[in-house]
Amino acid sequence: MSTIGPQSATSKAAQTHGEEVRYEFFKVVQGYLDRAAKVINLEPWVAAILAQPKNEVITHFPVKMDSGEVRLFKGYRIQHNNLLGPFKGGIRYHESVSLDDLKALAAMMTWKCALMRIPYGGGKGGIKFNPREVSRAELQRITRRFTHALGSNIGPEYDIPAPDVGTNSQTMSWMMDTFMNTVGHVNKQAVKGVVTGKPVASGGTLGREKATGQGLVHCITEWAKDSGFDIEGSTFTVQGFGNVGSNAAVLLAKLGASCTAVGDHTGYLANPEGFNAHKLQDYVQAKGSIAGYPGGKSITREEFFATKTDMFLPCALENQVGEAEAKLLDCKMVGEGANGPLNPEGEKVLLDKGIAILPDVLANSGGVTVSYYEWVQNKRSESWSLEEVDERLEKAMKRSYREVYNFSREKKCDMRVAAYAIALQRIEAVYREREIFP
Ligand code: NAD
Repeated sequence: MSTIGPQSATSKAAQTHGEEVRYEFFKVVQGYLDRAAKVINLEPWVAAILAQPKNEVITHFPVKMDSGEVRLFKGYRIQHNNLLGPFKGGIRYHESVSLDDLKALAAMMTWKCALMRIPYGGGKGGIKFNPREVSRAELQRITRRFTHALGSNIGPEYDIPAPDVGTNSQTMSWMMDTFMNTVGHVNKQAVKGVVTGKPVASGGTLGREKATGQGLVHCITEWAKDSGFDIEGSTFTVQGFGNVGSNAAVLLAKLGASCTAVGDHTGYLANPEGFNAHKLQDYVQAKGSIAGYPGGKSITREEFFATKTDMFLPCALENQVGEAEAKLLDCKMVGEGANGPLNPEGEKVLLDKGIAILPDVLANSGGVTVSYYEWVQNKRSESWSLEEVDERLEKAMKRSYREVYNFSREKKCDMRVAAYAIALQRIEAVYREREIFP
């Protein structure tokens, strides 16, 4: 019998014959790359280049904690590819951060930017620690010291970080400020675009906060049209109620769908009448998690996955839905707000059951798309209205959804492989033209 819940909050180790085996996320992403490469007959030399990141920056840096103790932190910045433009991708603060995961996430950023026709490559970074266990002052010192340690490995024309799990606009504001203070007075204003996802007053863009959730909801709306599915009156469940999950929930609620179960790192809650997504979002912003929210009944992780629903939105971490969870899921569609939430075994079960999957590379690309709009505004010293950002994002998401959908029908492959294949074709075309230096 398969067991539920191998992917706990802190350990991604699965039990196999009594031995701990780490989930190899990068191998999983490589597996999809191989499958997509076959569909489009990708040049072997291009596949060889894309099989590993270009640079892997690992730094150990000291930080003075509030107690006076000095703690050494391990920070990473993985730069997968910068053929189409600067490396681009989030910074993750989580106790499970590892080189393997960041390599996978950085590669996915390369595909995501190419798919969305954004002039960026892919990168990802992070620090291995639990940000909930340090004070705000410590968090600021950790962020600033990490940014300083990265030095010229980041920059507005070279590598542009953004928020991811455990980081937010405040983190980006500290990163920008630290970077600005290292480049000298004359260049200070020219480097605002070193990070995106900044607070609006510090050079961020309207619409970035909700962009990933918004992009996911645009994909869901397109899927609903194709499937003759009515979002109004439907139900959904969400795993992860942070930036992506909570914004997707609020926007779906606006379209008349009802959120009947939620979960985060503290546990799971159900409310068959439907949560008030707005109120729950405010509660999480104030308290840091869904724990203690009065509007729902506590359920187990197993009960959460077994909750019958129309749409399941995994918006937490990778490797959350394995074979056991997938067997429990009773839904019509899975919309991947998170990166890599399904492992290949879980994905196979869902596909065999005929459940539609909106793949991460497409479904959560709204975040990087609006990050790009922020970067363009910084370059031009402009501030766009929310309507303009929303309109552009909607067009971009719908166009890419259509491209992926049509490709998957034409080539008879699933939407994930289609999204990878379209991205790879675009990257390959540029490699063919530019060839290899020297
Ligand atoms: P976040 O830190 O705002 O929220 C993460 C959520 O996941 C929290 O609710 C947390 O409690 C929950 N969580 C963490 N560990 C969990 C566990 N073991 N079980 C259940 N829930 C758990 O992060 P976010 O920015 O919303 O990112 C979520 C996912 O979306 C990640 O996979 C990230 O890479 C992806 N993503 C984020 C963005 C973005 O713009 N922020 C863009 C694209 C993709």
